[in-house]
Amino acid sequence: MSRPSKAKIRLSAIAHNLDQVHQAAPGSKIMAVIKADAYGHGIVAAANAMPDADGFAVACLEEAMILREAGIKKKILLLEGVFSAKEIPMVQSAQLDLVVHTPEQVELLDKLLDIRGLAGNSQVWMKLDTGMHRLGFPAHDFSEHYRQLQTRLNNTDFVLMTHFANADDRHDKFTQSQLNLFNQVTQDFACEKSLANSAAILARPDTHADWVRPGIMLYGSSPLLTESAEQHKLLAVMSLESELIAVRSLKKGDRVGYGGLFECPQDMQVGVVAIGYGDGYPRHAPTGTPIVVAGQRTQLIGRVSMDMISVDLRTVKNAQVGSKVELWGDVLPVDEVAHHCGTIAYELLCQIGKRIPRIYIEN
Ligand SMILES: *Cc1c(COP(=O)(O)O)cnc(C)c1O
Repeated sequence: MSRPSKAKIRLSAIAHNLDQVHQAAPGSKIMAVIKADAYGHGIVAAANAMPDADGFAVACLEEAMILREAGIKKKILLLEGVFSAKEIPMVQSAQLDLVVHTPEQVELLDKLLDIRGLAGNSQVWMKLDTGMHRLGFPAHDFSEHYRQLQTRLNNTDFVLMTHFANADDRHDKFTQSQLNLFNQVTQDFACEKSLANSAAILARPDTHADWVRPGIMLYGSSPLLTESAEQHKLLAVMSLESELIAVRSLKKGDRVGYGGLFECPQDMQVGVVAIGYGDGYPRHAPTGTPIVVAGQRTQLIGRVSMDMISVDLRTVKNAQVGSKVELWGDVLPVDEVAHHCGTIAYELLCQIGKRIPRIYIEN
C-alpha cells in the first residue's frame, strides 16, 4: 500500500478560471502566468489546459524550455528577462518574449542582437517601475531606454508594462497613482500595454489594456484580500488529500505531538493524518487551522511534524483509519488555510513538494 497523500488537479477548473479572466477583461489578450511550475500545479499540464490563452509567462529560461520541449508553440514571456548573455541564443532559437527591466539588459541586447531584433513575432516587454520598486526603469529614464532599444531593434514590436504593488486591496489608493504614472510616461508611445495581475483584472477594469497577466486566479484562489474565490466564481484546482492513518483515544490532560503544544481538555479521539511539512504543508499552521475529515470540518491540533499532523475528531462522525482528509480543495478553500497560517495561497500552493504526486483529473 502506498502513502495516501496526493494533490488532485482538476484541469477543467483551470479552463473555467481562464474563462472568468475572459469575462472580466473581454477586450484584452491573456498572458497566463505559469511560473513556479504553474504555482505548484504542473507547468505543462497547466499550459495544455489553457488552449485559449494567448501566451504563457514564466520566470526563467529553464521553465520556458520545458514548455517548448513539450511542444507548446505559443508565445512565452520571460518575466525577468535574461540573466546573462549566454541565454540570448536560446531565447532566439526558442522564439521567446523578453522583459527588459535594467540598463544592463538593454546593453546586452544592443550588443548581441543583430538589427532584425528578436526572432519571429517575439516582443520586448519594457518594464516601467511605477512604485513597486522591484523591477523596472524609473519614470525619469524609461523613455530614453525605450527609444534607444526601439531604434536599434526596428523590426521588433514592444509591449510597455508595469506591475502593481497593492492591487490585492481594492481600496488602496496606490494602484491609482501607479496607473496615473504609467499613463503619463507611456501616453505618447503607440505600442501594446500591460498592467493587470489577477487582482487588477477583477477590481480595476481601467487597467486591462492590451494584455492582462493572470496568475493566482487561474488556480482558483482569490487575489483580493477580503473577497472569496466563490464570490468571483473561481473554482479550486488543487485538492490536497490524505487519509487518517491512526485514530487514538486520549485522556483529559494528554498532550499531542512535539512540544506537547495541545493538551486534551477532555477525553477525546485524535486522528493522525499522513501529511506534514516534508510534503509542503506549512509547519507554522497553528492549532485551529481548518481541515476536513470524512467530509466534516474540524481543526488541526498541536505541532505539524515532517510526515504527519494530528486532528481533532471530537465533532467528526464515523472517523476511522482510512477516512479521507482534505487539507484544502473543493470543500475547504486554500485561502482560508492560508489566512490561518498568516500567509497567502500562492505560498501554500507553490511549496507542495515532489513527494506529493499530482493526479490529473480531466473533468
Ligand atoms: C507573478 C506575476 C503576475 C501574476 O500575478 P498574480 O497575482 O498571481 O495574478 C503578473 N505579472 C507579473 C510581472 C508577475 O511577476
